Amino acid sequence: MQELYDIMQSKFGISEKVLQYCIQKESEIKSQFQKIDEITEYNQLKVLSAMQKNKLSDIHFAATTGYGYNDLGRDVLENIYADVFRTESGLVRPQLTCGTHALAVALAGNLRPGDELLSPVGLPYDTLQGVIGIRKEKGCLTEYGITYRQVDLLPEDKFDYDGIEKAITEKTKLVTIQRSKGYRWKVSFSVAQIKELISFIKSIKKDVICMVDNCYGEFAEIQEPSEVGADLVVGSLIKNPGGGLAPIGGYIVGKEEFVENAAYRLTAPGLGKEVGATLGITPSFLQGLFMAPQVVNGSIKTAIFAAKLFEDIGFSVLPKSNEARADIVQLIQMGSAENVIAFCQGIQKGAPVDSYVTPEPWDMPGYDCPVIMAAGAFVQGSSIELSADAPIKPPYHVYMQGGLSWHHGKIGVMTGLQTMVDKGLIQL
Ligand SMILES: *Cc1c(COP(=O)(O)O)cnc(C)c1O
Repeated sequence: MQELYDIMQSKFGISEKVLQYCIQKESEIKSQFQKIDEITEYNQLKVLSAMQKNKLSDIHFAATTGYGYNDLGRDVLENIYADVFRTESGLVRPQLTCGTHALAVALAGNLRPGDELLSPVGLPYDTLQGVIGIRKEKGCLTEYGITYRQVDLLPEDKFDYDGIEKAITEKTKLVTIQRSKGYRWKVSFSVAQIKELISFIKSIKKDVICMVDNCYGEFAEIQEPSEVGADLVVGSLIKNPGGGLAPIGGYIVGKEEFVENAAYRLTAPGLGKEVGATLGITPSFLQGLFMAPQVVNGSIKTAIFAAKLFEDIGFSVLPKSNEARADIVQLIQMGSAENVIAFCQGIQKGAPVDSYVTPEPWDMPGYDCPVIMAAGAFVQGSSIELSADAPIKPPYHVYMQGGLSWHHGKIGVMTGLQTMVDKGLIQL
């Protein structure tokens, strides 16, 4: 494909060496793509059938204002989510401002003073620590008399079943399980592993609420955690299920009672799901969900390609290029600040938005070291779009995720590698 190589070289500054290397590496991972395509096809049909079952029609695309009573589009959207995740109920709203907010609403709606929250998978995602009160923030759960207990993972990220059994008491009301790795060098949990963990927990205490933080995991496999025993599943719409089209939002799906508890917390006791105008945003949510399996497909192919490029140069990557994927996040251990910065700057160069700006590390609130973020995204902070971020501290891990299409993700990773080569940081 000479025309393709010409445009890569002339418009994106890809050198002959980098081009030849990437062509070779792509050919070595191509055989894995069939399996990913099969998962995508299954999930596409899952979403399509949920839309057909709920008789989605253009009347559902209308905007509501004010209280938003009788918002047919909102109701149908929530029913479609419930069907896709095979749950009784769903809460899918622009008023859920992000993933952290959705998780906070699900927790606060279902926990009462005196209850205990348990994380059997170690420390939760950074922002959740503030919500729970592991890091004291105003209004955190511990301020309301909700206690927190944690069981760390054993070596090799195994569940500490003995520790979990001991940690479950009469106070334990809700268990929170994070599917994705978050900002840690660890594997993400497959749905099969989550199933095993939930079965174990329910065998000890049948009525404990099992909630899964599903961020980054949606549509990476053919099943979702709600199909293997999770009572509540929560995530962000500017990640996988928004398909890059949702401009804001979060979702909570699960058992009717628990979703209702969350809705009463989000709006007000007595109002719940009945209010919440959608202001014209419903079509983007629906179309984004429709596109989401395909977008996740592109993100996973991009992650595998990045893993392959860097592992074959000698970098540690997680997961490895040939390992099964439980989410869209790729970790690369860059080994130096220069490498991290060059890679992130290169990712930015391949972006559709703000490709001409050069990201630099800065002291972000809530972090103990400077952080660099590459995100030339249509939606601010959207990490289903190709993005990379890294705390500037040893061992210099970069977290890369997203890619609205494989063909965009591919060039983005290539400009990332090219920038490192241009700066003389790596040789091919
Ligand atoms: C992104 C993420 C969150 C928080 O989502 P925001 O939309 O950034 O608030 C929570 N948990 C995990 C595992 C995440 O990846």
